[in-house]
Amino acid sequence: MNATKWKMKKEKKLKLIDNIKELKEEIKHLRGTIGLVPTMGALHAGHRSLIERCVRENDNAIVSVFVNPIQFGVNEDLDKYPRQLNSDCQMCEQCGAKIVFAPKVQEMYSNKKDDLTLICPPYSLVDMLCGKSRPGHFDGVCSVVAKLFNLTKAQRAYFGKKDAQQLFIIKRMVQDLNFDLEIVPCEIVREENNLALSSRNKYLTEQEKILALNISKALFEAVKLYKTNTATKRAIIDNSLKLLEDLDVEYIELVDKTTFELQQEPNDNTLMLIASRTPQTKTRLIDNIEFVK
Ligand code: AMP
Repeated sequence: MNATKWKMKKEKKLKLIDNIKELKEEIKHLRGTIGLVPTMGALHAGHRSLIERCVRENDNAIVSVFVNPIQFGVNEDLDKYPRQLNSDCQMCEQCGAKIVFAPKVQEMYSNKKDDLTLICPPYSLVDMLCGKSRPGHFDGVCSVVAKLFNLTKAQRAYFGKKDAQQLFIIKRMVQDLNFDLEIVPCEIVREENNLALSSRNKYLTEQEKILALNISKALFEAVKLYKTNTATKRAIIDNSLKLLEDLDVEYIELVDKTTFELQQEPNDNTLMLIASRTPQTKTRLIDNIEFVK
């Protein structure tokens, strides 16, 4: 459904906006605080938890729905990434959001990525984990998020802990570039079977859905091992590798959640992160857990 059709539907309080000019005009007339939830759409209960919190904590909640091409690598899933604006708008409206901002690519970027002003996070934060396997990914993320911060003039922006490295890098960007807004980290929402919700779960075959459960299982078992007081990093990683043997593991790492530096051994500041691909559809799944005793 396009923007005009949605606007024509009667009794809808949500405004679907697809261009910057209208967004700026609308924002001029908003009263009270503005909260922003940046998303790539294909919204699920994980996104819903962010939107609901944004609605609770702000007078106006804006959800952006934009599959940001400059954060995808050449061989990544940009073209097949799920797009379902109609049902996304329904969810946003049910949650009480005021605006869905869903611009076309040309509206956000008039040039190709190599001819744009980009925001590049520090090398030490991107030369690891997801940044290492997805070169340029976080430049794309920071650049689009900075644009959204400027356009919406939000006082708060909501991000999921599911994308832990992204959350850390965005907090650093806000600090380094003096953005005048608060980043609100939100807990990971999981299925009952502990699989972390992700728009990419849609790609999984039935068999892969079962295999994917081993990712959260590895994380939850790691916390249990840590609680025994005897488990080393090696023992924790070996246990995970055993559980993940039918997946293609990209990384299993322990970082200090306050600095994002790699850790030699776990402690109460540890964040354990896993990225792996499924065997058939090659879907890349990420998840993480904080260690607490
Ligand atoms: P995406 O649409 O994948 O770019 O995600 C938009 C926002 O939703 C990001 O801040 C994600 O971290 C967050 N998010 C995605 N999945 C989950 C989840 N399962 N639980 C909590 N937040 C999530």
